[in-house]
Amino acid sequence: MAEVKSQGAVEAMEVAEASRETEWEKPSFVGQLFLGNLNTDLIHPFPEQPAADKAEADEFLAKLERFLAENVDADKIDAQGEYDYSLFDGFNELGAWGMKIPKEYGGLGFSATNYNRAIGLVATWCGSTVAWLSAHQSIGVPQPLKLFGTEDQKKKYLPRLAKGAISAFALTEPGVGSDPAKMATTATPSPDGKGWILNGEKLWCTNGLKAEVIVVMAQTPPKKVNGKEKKQISAFILETDTPGFEIVHRCQFMGLRGIGNVLIKFNNVFVPKENLLWGEGLGLKLALITLNTGRLTIPAGCAAIGRRMVDIAKEWGLERVQWGAPIAKHEGVAAKIAWMASHTFAMEAIVWLTSGLADRGDVDLRLEAAMAKLFNTEVAWQCVDHLVQIRGGRGYETAQSLRERGEKGYPVERIMRDMRINRIFEGTSEIQHLFIAREAVDPHMKRGMKILLPETPVGEKLAAAAKAGAHYAAWYPKKYLGWSRFPKHGEFGALSGHMGYVERASRHLARSIFHAMMRFQAKLERKQMVLFRLVDIGTDLFAMSAAISYATMLAKQGHANAVDLADVFCKEARMRIDFNFEHVFDNHDEESYRLVTKLLKNEYDWFRGPMVEPVDAVMPTPEQIEEAMAKLA
Ligand SMILES: Cc1cc2nc3c(=O)[nH]c(=O)nc-3n(C[C@H](O)[C@H](O)[C@H](O)COP(=O)(O)OP(=O)(O)OC[C@H]3O[C@@H](n4cnc5c(N)ncnc54)[C@H](O)[C@@H]3O)c2cc1C
Repeated sequence: MAEVKSQGAVEAMEVAEASRETEWEKPSFVGQLFLGNLNTDLIHPFPEQPAADKAEADEFLAKLERFLAENVDADKIDAQGEYDYSLFDGFNELGAWGMKIPKEYGGLGFSATNYNRAIGLVATWCGSTVAWLSAHQSIGVPQPLKLFGTEDQKKKYLPRLAKGAISAFALTEPGVGSDPAKMATTATPSPDGKGWILNGEKLWCTNGLKAEVIVVMAQTPPKKVNGKEKKQISAFILETDTPGFEIVHRCQFMGLRGIGNVLIKFNNVFVPKENLLWGEGLGLKLALITLNTGRLTIPAGCAAIGRRMVDIAKEWGLERVQWGAPIAKHEGVAAKIAWMASHTFAMEAIVWLTSGLADRGDVDLRLEAAMAKLFNTEVAWQCVDHLVQIRGGRGYETAQSLRERGEKGYPVERIMRDMRINRIFEGTSEIQHLFIAREAVDPHMKRGMKILLPETPVGEKLAAAAKAGAHYAAWYPKKYLGWSRFPKHGEFGALSGHMGYVERASRHLARSIFHAMMRFQAKLERKQMVLFRLVDIGTDLFAMSAAISYATMLAKQGHANAVDLADVFCKEARMRIDFNFEHVFDNHDEESYRLVTKLLKNEYDWFRGPMVEPVDAVMPTPEQIEEAMAKLA
């Protein structure tokens, strides 16, 4: 495989690594799963929402539901490509801008579970509204302020933010998306020593159009660490009425057409020094922790829309008769509805499990939150694809057009457009895979790094190898042993067999990770498809565990047939897991990579066209092609 690491890539990795959260102070269910240990005590009994906590939000949710139904015309917002800003006051009266802000600062102080109940409710109605509320408080100023702000900063901003001073999160730039470590926006100390001067651009800032305050990440002057110059990224709270702050473009998208998303330019924008958040050089870490913590919101929205989609599929599957039977009675359609229902059940299990555990606060949810984002956004996208197919031609027709010709205006076409972005923003699916993989291999890397690094002196290498050898001599055989069948996991009743499978598969997964590390050593980092398969196995195992525990709780509460949903989900997941295990090493990854390298080098030029080139098409110059090819060589 070609060497693709440039100096820039090495630097970006170093900055990203330095911003990683490395401490594991609390237990992690998924972290243990990757090591071949199934610790069901962490997820079972399923964390039920305490009645008092539920009661805190019940009245709010009832009012919010009424407000949405009576006032928010999601199809009109979508058709016009513009939000109805008169709704903002209504949200303010409800307290919706301050759901996550503690009560002492004027917010509603909701638990994670209640916040996600509210987000889910809004998501079933209007994606653009979710984006306004969520960009404000899942990732906007309140979130990093709560986590890292000083008491003075909190007192100054949180009450304002709770009362509807809209906020936003500005990390992405035209040149940096998934790799924010290489950002170009700068913050230089002002000559009078009273603050910082911001210069640069921030792209796709959701809520930026109406935001009063935003959190901005920017490069501050580098610092010498151990004699080496290290890039510094810092975070600031910025008032958008500061001179030099300019909105240069309002971005329009495939979906979420009512959001206020903009390209921002900073021209010598002054930020007072008291607006630095957390500390100099901690901005990327702050941004990553903010995204990790806020990461449960998108999965909550996906799970809630999943239920809505199952509802539509059920109604339409019964109503639409073709070939003498309701279409839901044809097995090809029934299988899709079963997939949607069982996978929505798993999405929901993940959301309420992670929300409940977040509220309890006794486990580390970094990996679970990333898996929730990965699993729910991928599954919800597959659900909407199934739903469009089940609706046939109507799935492709807008709700307004359906209504105009006298049919029920199911907004399936809008749901699909709104849904697609979930796999991209707040960390793409590929980046979630890489993040999870990095943590999955970390325990082994810590033991093996000294052995793998070429610069380690031979003596140290031998000592490290002996230490690691002693550890693995005891660890490895255990990953083949262990009783996982009946009566073990009997507490999960009819689903105990599936939990036994999770236990066996987690040991298989730990062995496979170890084999991958031995086989590829330092090159494993570049074997992304191997890593992705291992992560997909871990994610499905986590989803199975969540679904089994959730169904067990629901069955105890009287919903015995929840077990059927979990059973079908587990059967589907086991097929995927078995397939992935089979192809972790037995695959055509190398051939695919070589093919793309040739394609990029224009070796398949005969395969292009004929096609209509846009009149303003800018073709690369021969020099640019030459330069790109040199990089690939
Ligand atoms: C509607 C919308 C709202 C947004 N809101 C905000 C916001 O409020 N604030 C904000 O800061 N940003 C926001 N973003 C930006 C969003 O978070 C980024 O789009 C996202 O992080 C991905 O960055 P990118 O689009 O530059 O893709 P790129 O990083 O250019 O990636 C392109 C593709 O390459 C893949 N890729 C990249 N690196 C790797 C790798 N190492 N290995 C494998 N695959 C890789 C990616 O997964 C992706 O598929 C928003 C974007 C949109 C479209």
